[in-house]
Amino acid sequence: MFKANPDYLQLRGSYLFSNIAKKVAAYKEAHPDTPIIRLGIGDVTQPLSKSVIAALQKAVEEQAHAETFRGYTPDLGYDFLREAISRVDFGRRGVSISPDEIFISDGAKSDSGNIQEIFSKDCRVAVCDPVYPVYVDTNVMAGRAGEYDEKTGTWSNIIYMPCLAENDFAPQLPTEIPDIIYLCFPNNPTGATVSKEQLQKWVDFANEHKAVIIYDAAYEAYITEDDIPHSIYECDGAKTCSIEIRSFSKNAGFTGVRLGYTVVPKELKDASGVSMRDLWARRHGTKFNGAPYIQQRAGEAVYSDQGQKEIRELVSYYMENARMIREGLTAAGFTCSGGVNSPYIWLKTPDGMTSWEFFDYLLEKGHVVGTPGSGFGPSGEGYFRLTAFGSHENTKAAIERFKHLN
Ligand code: PLP
Repeated sequence: MFKANPDYLQLRGSYLFSNIAKKVAAYKEAHPDTPIIRLGIGDVTQPLSKSVIAALQKAVEEQAHAETFRGYTPDLGYDFLREAISRVDFGRRGVSISPDEIFISDGAKSDSGNIQEIFSKDCRVAVCDPVYPVYVDTNVMAGRAGEYDEKTGTWSNIIYMPCLAENDFAPQLPTEIPDIIYLCFPNNPTGATVSKEQLQKWVDFANEHKAVIIYDAAYEAYITEDDIPHSIYECDGAKTCSIEIRSFSKNAGFTGVRLGYTVVPKELKDASGVSMRDLWARRHGTKFNGAPYIQQRAGEAVYSDQGQKEIRELVSYYMENARMIREGLTAAGFTCSGGVNSPYIWLKTPDGMTSWEFFDYLLEKGHVVGTPGSGFGPSGEGYFRLTAFGSHENTKAAIERFKHLN
């Protein structure tokens, strides 16, 4: 008789956003005429840009002719896209990443979940708390997390790095030494960022202790302040200790199109000198058959001058929402952070409510959906995440509803 993977059975309940979707569906069924505004899941709402649509259409048309039809794509990605990424995302910031260190994928969720596969099962993992749930859950699935403690909501083998208001929601260097450190800046869910000087300390720490940093820069395009690094490779020595993950979802609106990439530098070697780049290439080649040609052409269009202009406009649209939420809610007496270099606003729940109490209260009284902070980890308790990815109209309406909650 076959058996299910016991590591998977350790997972608690369903994925955070599936839980929220179920709750909202139940509320909608009970109140079919109540218009709900969703500022919960970090999904974009604005259409794809003109350059991206033109590239998609051209690539689709090519598939109608034998001379230009494409079948399987190169498993690591087309050179045209890898070269554009190398030139624009890194070259323009003075960082040298060669195209063959860039691995094209179907998005940052897969990459941030899969990357742990190339590390030994006994590696100790450190995560920020609160955290994007994929990092912890995929290490649970891999049997690396240990035992779950119901009382604290933590796993025995995971090192949690609390991100608290007194440190502007930035993690502190851990006292226990991890092997793998997940960092995400601008952060989901808190919207926090770190300066280049602060990030350099993490890179130095990782190099000193032979740890690897998995740096999720999915929200890099939302950085507005000067001293914030856009890539971990802006720090000295990062290539010997860091993997960086990027997404086209939040900068170019590809949440439904699907495209992302991961950088694994050639200099990144394990304790016995194994090239992690070669290992990721081997893994990618075995388990992934390449991102679709059509999507990669759309990705390439993002790097044209016009494409860059259009994504800046898209990001500005959402950042205007972020500003409205931050200012509107602060004026209404809420304590908010984030929303300056990030599309996320991190709200302190009022009157000592728990995150889920506030979720229910906001849905019931304001018909607005957000994300309970405790869903991201124990230090998220007492907080609530709102996203700036709605339309201006819905965002304004949601702010009005917050103002009239009582
Ligand atoms: N990484 C972080 C930190 C995210 O918040 C998200 C999505 O919300 C992702 C990765 C997933 O990105 P993608 O759509 O490219 O899979």
